[in-house]
Amino acid sequence: MRAEIVTVGTELLLGQIVDTNSAWLAERLASLGVDVHWQTKVGDNHGRMCEAFRLALGRADAVVVTGGLGPTQDDITREAVSEVTGRPLVRDPEVVALLERIFGGLGREMAASNLRQADVPEGATPILMRVGTAPGLIVPAGDAKVVYALPGVPHEMKEMWERSVVADLLERMGETATIRSRVLKCWGVSESRLADLLAERFDALDASGTATIAFLAGEGVVRVRITAKGSDEAAVEDLLTSEERVIRDILGEAVFGAGSDTMESVVVDLLRERGQRLATAESMTGGTVGEWITRVPGASDVYAGGAVTYTPASKTDVLGVPAETIEHHGVVSEEVAIAMAAGARRVFGAEVALSVTGSAGPGAQGSSVGEACLGVDVDGDVTVARVRFPGDRERVRSFATATLLDLLRRRLVGERRGG
Ligand code: ATP
Ligand code: MG
Repeated sequence: MRAEIVTVGTELLLGQIVDTNSAWLAERLASLGVDVHWQTKVGDNHGRMCEAFRLALGRADAVVVTGGLGPTQDDITREAVSEVTGRPLVRDPEVVALLERIFGGLGREMAASNLRQADVPEGATPILMRVGTAPGLIVPAGDAKVVYALPGVPHEMKEMWERSVVADLLERMGETATIRSRVLKCWGVSESRLADLLAERFDALDASGTATIAFLAGEGVVRVRITAKGSDEAAVEDLLTSEERVIRDILGEAVFGAGSDTMESVVVDLLRERGQRLATAESMTGGTVGEWITRVPGASDVYAGGAVTYTPASKTDVLGVPAETIEHHGVVSEEVAIAMAAGARRVFGAEVALSVTGSAGPGAQGSSVGEACLGVDVDGDVTVARVRFPGDRERVRSFATATLLDLLRRRLVGERRGG
């Protein structure tokens, strides 16, 4: 099976948004064993869209299109797909009813333009939307080919892909088996180190053919995707569960979560499990640690608050870090990180505190650029780490944030294991 990806949107051509949809889709198609030889980006122009779709349909069995399904005048993917497949648009009563329910639920009058979203190429199957207001489309084309049109908004696109497109694709491939994957996320270990650790397992799976593993690294997180194939969903889930157990045993604490877990959601869960509250004391990260924690719904159960103390004086005034400690050891020091954490615990009345002091660069501030001291204080028992992060200012700050949360995670997991 061959597929092509066509992403629609003039903003993509102008460089105003980055085409992450293509990358995501390409990776998903590859994991299903579908070859992708071409990817195209095209603006919101009827003629050029038709040209792009025709070319893609000429070369591939399936064309995945994203974007241009919205209600506005520049959203014209429907019309172009209709023209290229020779299927006139007909208003679909089921989509109309759904749109009316969505707008009714929002207490909003539906604009007439929204009804355009209920226009479906004749003989196509709409993918009813669960989020957003644009339905997707599965449109049969000549020679047993197909066009999948999905919304441009990444999370809407992904949801429809997983819910409807994968099954349709597999059926067209004559694949009767069920394929599912699960993702484990690791921090603090390189992709090559992970590959080394899993080399033996990799070979064993290659020989047995029960499952495959693949690595995907980005932003410091290395993802291990386990994919299994079986006769039905239950069989595949069993395979995935047992393979996940094997891989977790091999990787140990490097695995911080699975699926949609994030480092911060895992930390919030661990704290909630212990019934403890967290405080943060930040310098170089400027509040990022607190920001990440508060991204997690329900973070107020565990997050007491944080202080951004950017100058030596504010570390002393707000957190009670002794001026002599700063003078004697320097502001980027383990001693200051320890005192900041202790201060945060006291000020915010929390059992657990995280602290970070460092230099994000560029240009040194009495210490080496990218160097940081990270403190983790659990019930007054402090561990502190001196670390050095590569990269530019943004990268140093986000790596420091993730690493600090990871230090806490490892400690809490370790204590849980220790009993
Ligand atoms: P909507 O109903 O929201 O208008 P749509 O199907 O019309 O959806 P577009 O208008 O093309 O989609 O894009 C909506 C938004 O989705 C864009 O502003 C952009 O933020 C995001 N988006 C679109 N295409 C891509 C892409 N290829 N990669 C990443 N993000 C994208
Ligand atoms: Mg739009």
